[in-house]
Amino acid sequence: MIIAVVDGGDGASRLSLPASIALCALGNPSHALLKGRRLVYVDCDAEQPRAGLILHPRMIRMKAVHLPLPKVNPRTCTLCGRCVEVCQYGAVALVSDHITVLSDLCRGCGACALQCPESAIYEVPSRIGTVERGRVGSILFLRGRTDRESFATIGVLRDMLRMAAEEQPNPLMLLDLPPGRSALTIPALKISQYALVVTESTPAGLQNLKLLCGMARALGTPLGLILCQNGDHDTSVEDYAEEQCIPVYLRVPLDGATVRACAGGVPLITALPQYRMRLLGMLSRTIREAE
Ligand code: SF4
Ligand code: SF4
Repeated sequence: MIIAVVDGGDGASRLSLPASIALCALGNPSHALLKGRRLVYVDCDAEQPRAGLILHPRMIRMKAVHLPLPKVNPRTCTLCGRCVEVCQYGAVALVSDHITVLSDLCRGCGACALQCPESAIYEVPSRIGTVERGRVGSILFLRGRTDRESFATIGVLRDMLRMAAEEQPNPLMLLDLPPGRSALTIPALKISQYALVVTESTPAGLQNLKLLCGMARALGTPLGLILCQNGDHDTSVEDYAEEQCIPVYLRVPLDGATVRACAGGVPLITALPQYRMRLLGMLSRTIREAE
């Protein structure tokens, strides 16, 4: 089972809620909701991985991730343009008298090589980043890093999921997604059985929720909400959630005391232990909804 947690950014990010959810499960390994499944925490922010600063994993192994990038043999290419037509990502271009592959846009799907009538395209593995594997108690902790900004993050995520599936039969995967909309948002929502959105009760939080709700609805992924309330009595996020039938699982005051308690990377459940049972209850409901 895969549950995506989409962090809302800004003030909500300071509470590091995805890490607190993982720590709740770690503190209750025999809880019925886990049903013998091991938790796999995937820090999906391959450009700026942060969860390690809070969860302090003991890292064990690192491996390079490669993507098969197409190269064109100019001796056999007839400039027919088929590869330009088939690439859905605009990564192939016919430039005057030759074909160019824009490696930053290429996702290594292999369609161009498959469709080339002259077999003029061959693939060369190109390093796009690394995946690190570690442990936080019984939790398998995975994080990726990209060598360059681009769609490479998707390749790194794919490799982390493969690694998790190889190591843990039927794991409970928690995908800690980067704030806002990123190249990973759609692919991650697509493979998740449920998505938890952490957002603030502000106009920016409302925009963020609307965007995610649109994407999740199009992909058929159910959504639940964790609402960080900043005390401005702005109810627009709750009103929208009610209108869209999105359950609000948890409300956390985003006041000075909470933010101060969570300063310096202290997880919410360490700073305010009363949230431990609430987060565990929320995880139980999420799993039931996802099953
Ligand atoms: S499909 Fe093959 S032959 Fe046609 S332009 Fe592309 S590389 Fe050249
Ligand atoms: S491998 Fe896929 S994404 Fe890359 S250039 Fe070919 S068709 Fe486009």
